[in-house]
Amino acid sequence: MSNKLEYLGVPLGRPKVAFFELSSCEGCQLQIVNNEATLVDFLALMEVVNFREAMSERSDDYDIAFVEGSVTRADEVERLQEIRKNAKVLVALGSCACFGGVNQLRNRFSDQEWVKKEVYGDFPIETEDVVRPLSAIVEVDLEIYGCPIKKEEVEKIVTNLILGKSINHPKYPVCMDCKANENICLFDLGEPCLGPVTRGGCDAWCPNNRMGCWGCRGPAEEANVAQLREIMAKHGFSEETLTDRLECFGGFTAYTEEFQAARKGK
Ligand code: SF4
Ligand code: SF4
Ligand code: SF4
Repeated sequence: MSNKLEYLGVPLGRPKVAFFELSSCEGCQLQIVNNEATLVDFLALMEVVNFREAMSERSDDYDIAFVEGSVTRADEVERLQEIRKNAKVLVALGSCACFGGVNQLRNRFSDQEWVKKEVYGDFPIETEDVVRPLSAIVEVDLEIYGCPIKKEEVEKIVTNLILGKSINHPKYPVCMDCKANENICLFDLGEPCLGPVTRGGCDAWCPNNRMGCWGCRGPAEEANVAQLREIMAKHGFSEETLTDRLECFGGFTAYTEEFQAARKGK
């Protein structure tokens, strides 16, 4: 890291930072450039050397690589390995990168040729049979959850990373954020919600807007999916409604494998 800045005579690290995208909607990167109120201060902490959405310059000389998106093609495997080689710290940015995200929904189909035909019709593109998160290919140093990421949370995490402070993801579920915001529980309004089992820290983004949580941040510590199943059934929601939500972003794969096996009649 370059040490050109000083504070009270102490050299400050200003790392070279690069942003990359694999298969994604680029919504997570957009969250970062959208944060106009704090963007200048945030970017002052680092030297951005690669960020296709925001600048035309390119460099392979960087300390921290933020990678958005999941791995769906062979060329992305090579690209990710190259990024890993160049970066001291590799950060998975958003649920696609952490869990496969919405892209991994196609993993639930056993006939991938059928999927490709349905999606691309007579214009097939090269794509692997399984969508994978970054950690299936390379070592990931830090994961930032959410679809999209929450910009305030990212700024805090990145600031801590650059200043060498510890980074602690919330272990509590979304319900804690939701209760702190004094929302009426959506189950009482007839809406399903994965808040009881999903990692908090998004400030209950969806329930604040009267929408049930879909679990984009993956499981909270000691997530009790069996109990959520009971809550869903008690409120009249089907097993399919629960499974659809648990499978949506890929964070609950370990919890849904038994549901998938049952569905395929194994
Ligand atoms: S995590 Fe969501 S917002 Fe981010 S790239 Fe993936 S689909 Fe887009
Ligand atoms: S609305 Fe969802 S997040 Fe909020 S308290 Fe109810 S279950 Fe928990
Ligand atoms: S409420 Fe759930 S789905 Fe919505 S942002 Fe938070 S974790 Fe993601």
